[in-house]
Amino acid sequence: MNELLEKQKRYFQTGETLSLEFRLKQLIRLKETIQKYEQRITDTLKKELHKSPFEAYTTEIGIVYEEINFIMKRLARWMQPKRVPTPLTHFGSTSYVYPEPYGVSLIIAPWNYPFQLAVSPLIGAIAAGNGAVVKPSEYTPAMSALLKTIVSEAFSEEYVTVVEGGVDVSQELLGLRFDHIFFTGSVSVGKIVMAAAAKHLTPVTLELGGKSPAIVDQSAHLELAAKRIVWGKFLNAGQTCIAPDYVLVHKAVKQPLMEKMKRYLDELYGDRDAYGRIVSERHAERLVRFLENGTIIHGGSHDIQQRWIEPTLLDDVTWNDDVMQEEIFGPLLPILTFATIEEAIRTVQDHEKPLALYLFAEDERVQQQVLAQVSFGGGCINDTIMHIANPHLPFGGVGQSGIGAYHGKASFDAFSHYKSVLKQTTKFDIPLRYPNFPNALKWV
Ligand code: NAD
Repeated sequence: MNELLEKQKRYFQTGETLSLEFRLKQLIRLKETIQKYEQRITDTLKKELHKSPFEAYTTEIGIVYEEINFIMKRLARWMQPKRVPTPLTHFGSTSYVYPEPYGVSLIIAPWNYPFQLAVSPLIGAIAAGNGAVVKPSEYTPAMSALLKTIVSEAFSEEYVTVVEGGVDVSQELLGLRFDHIFFTGSVSVGKIVMAAAAKHLTPVTLELGGKSPAIVDQSAHLELAAKRIVWGKFLNAGQTCIAPDYVLVHKAVKQPLMEKMKRYLDELYGDRDAYGRIVSERHAERLVRFLENGTIIHGGSHDIQQRWIEPTLLDDVTWNDDVMQEEIFGPLLPILTFATIEEAIRTVQDHEKPLALYLFAEDERVQQQVLAQVSFGGGCINDTIMHIANPHLPFGGVGQSGIGAYHGKASFDAFSHYKSVLKQTTKFDIPLRYPNFPNALKWV
């Protein structure tokens, strides 16, 4: 692996990856290769996570095409050095900020959107002029192998390559001196990645997780709140980093909200064939243990061998229960209540800053209050998940839910260093800064 990295670094040093033409050509090549393998990507997502072709396209493949198109259209502009003002005290000089690639990036991906979460960061790496090593998750081995096929068909090994494997391979890669690490995964592994990066002072982007709340205020449009929470939570069987982890609902509207949610569960996810599976039996077992917490008010059935867990609503859950101690990352939705919006705000503030927050409220004062007082990575008012699909919105966490952001321009920024340069004149030399000031202005 060290040899591979050395080869990539030498290739990067040739400057080949720097021009706009090169970057655009690689993005087109990536897109065309994905198009060629589109059916296999869809089939593999079905096989490993039971994603329907519709879900595969909207949440994995289509989003990647959009990201490539969005970036290609704007890349020339982003790559331009930006002239910035220079104070009068620096008379005679001009100042510029030059975006430059870090070099060779290590991209470590998780299994829940195993195609999109490996390829989206790669698009950013290529756009910013980097080389990359991509390490997909070992829990989706068929997708890992397919990514290897796609990437080795599109690119030379010295430029972009996929290294397959589990924790041992990941740790071996983390021991090497990359120029940047982009990690998507759990908070606990994020800490391991950052500790490894610290040894070489390698910059990191960490896209992590956490418990993202869906707050439903008394003023909420309950029908749409129920529908949109159910859709966002049970997409991919709850294995979405920004899925609502739990609902925090005003006690006055809890009953009607739950009734509506039950209806939408049947309507949107009643068809077992179109609904996702848990990635492994081990992960399913972990989730089934959470069913011992609280009271099941809907769902609760499961088949561990089939990796199937019915969409489930849990009532009477407290923060002391296991299900509230860690990110759920599965199709179980605890419903907790609050009496005042201040109490809801305090509840979220008392826990780690979430990756996402969803607020359902018609009352604009409540919207302003929550936005002003609660820190979270990103989110929606009166919706779930959709913020991730707007390439104009940087996507990332804060605090324990992550460091840095990507998507669209933010992806270009995540893989770039901004080099600041002051260009001085040699036509004259202002003496103000020299120790023997006040000599007269000397013309050279
Ligand atoms: P994970 O942290 O277990 O694994 C992610 C990657 O890290 C895998 O490639 C794995 O091989 C590697 N890895 C695992 N243990 C390691 C170790 N000890 N040392 C070095 N590398 C190691 O995460 P996961 O289970 O694949 O994904 C689920 C988590 O990812 C959830 O917490 C979820 O919220 C988060 N996530 C975040 C985002 C985001 O964009 N912020 C997106 C998807 C998932």
